Amino acid sequence: MAEKKVILVTGGTGLIGEAIKTIVEREGRKPNEEWVFVSSKEADLANKEQTKALFAKYKPTHVIHLAAMVGGLFRNLKYNLDFLRTNIQINDNVLQTAFEHNVKKVVSCLSTCIFPDKTTYPIDETMIHNGPPHSSNFGYSYAKRLIDVQNRGYHQQHGCHFTAVIPTNVFGPHDNFNLEDGHVLPGLIHKVYESKKNGTPFVIWGTGSPRRQFIYSLDLARLFLWVLREYQEIDPIILSVGEEDEVSIKEAADMVIEAMDFKGEVVMDTTKSDGQFKKTASNAKLMKLNPDFKFTPIKQALKETVDWFVKNYDIARK
Ligand code: NAP
Ligand code: GDP
Repeated sequence: MAEKKVILVTGGTGLIGEAIKTIVEREGRKPNEEWVFVSSKEADLANKEQTKALFAKYKPTHVIHLAAMVGGLFRNLKYNLDFLRTNIQINDNVLQTAFEHNVKKVVSCLSTCIFPDKTTYPIDETMIHNGPPHSSNFGYSYAKRLIDVQNRGYHQQHGCHFTAVIPTNVFGPHDNFNLEDGHVLPGLIHKVYESKKNGTPFVIWGTGSPRRQFIYSLDLARLFLWVLREYQEIDPIILSVGEEDEVSIKEAADMVIEAMDFKGEVVMDTTKSDGQFKKTASNAKLMKLNPDFKFTPIKQALKETVDWFVKNYDIARK
């Protein structure tokens, strides 16, 4: 019989954690796997003792490490120091405790927004440390970059199999739909919802010209399972749709308008920041290792997300 695995998912109640739970329940559970999804209520991972108690309780053999202080552009702009300190603490506690518990594999989560601001395109996995990140989110970025440094350190000094994935902008059910703190797609969905309800204009922040690659959380969840089971490297891997699937913020907003059948006035507020212009990433490594993977078309994924938000409006994070 296959060896028993206990897979601990930190940040298990967030956008990506909930998506992994959905995919595991729908199609991914193997008989020898036990899955544990935890939130900050069970343990504050910025606290060393609580982190140790969590690992002592579940004795994981594998960890998907998602827990982090997370936010969209406008939250990052306000709290760079908090993003840096909190995420350094969480990551150091989780990785060191995983090492102490002899965890066989840890898959942590970086982001394409941590790459150098001044770079050539497309960005690939080798470029993470090649220059300063965009000034809007330097705290989050340096904390995330250190995960990659730690992974190499744990491997070099102790032979650990700690690795990381690098997703682009994620969206889907269970996202944070908060207007100030969340990412762009959940923010736009929530704003259109309010505009429809109140008969007010729909306001898009910035010029609408920045460009982003969006990945559906359920697609990302399937890729997380593949990385956990199949990916052998310590070096990270970008999990993204193709470069040709990049869209402008204005195009993304138009897709939200279509998905929500909004007929009202649309306004651009160009006094608001655009953030990083683009961070176009290559998914060549992913497609070489996992050539059959199919992404959900963005319009279908957006429609499913909008339907989830409207149906779960009362309980959605906002
Ligand atoms: P999210 O929806 O905001 O969820 C964050 C999760 O982390 C929640 O389960 C939260 O628990 C937990 N958490 C936060 N602080 C914690 C603490 N001190 N102790 C324990 N748990 C804590 O975030 P997400 O979008 O799913 O992001 C998951 C990971 O993906 C993060 O590492 C993020 O940096 C990365 N990522 C996200 C995106 C994106 O576009 N969303 C893109 C690239 C990478 P509670 O529910 O109790 O608060
Ligand atoms: P980023 O991809 O890390 O920069 O973070 P976001 O997901 O917050 O996307 C920010 C981009 O979307 C910027 O170009 C913003 O100007 C633009 N944007 C337009 N409307 C909104 C909105 O309502 N919320 C957010 N977060 N960004 C918006």
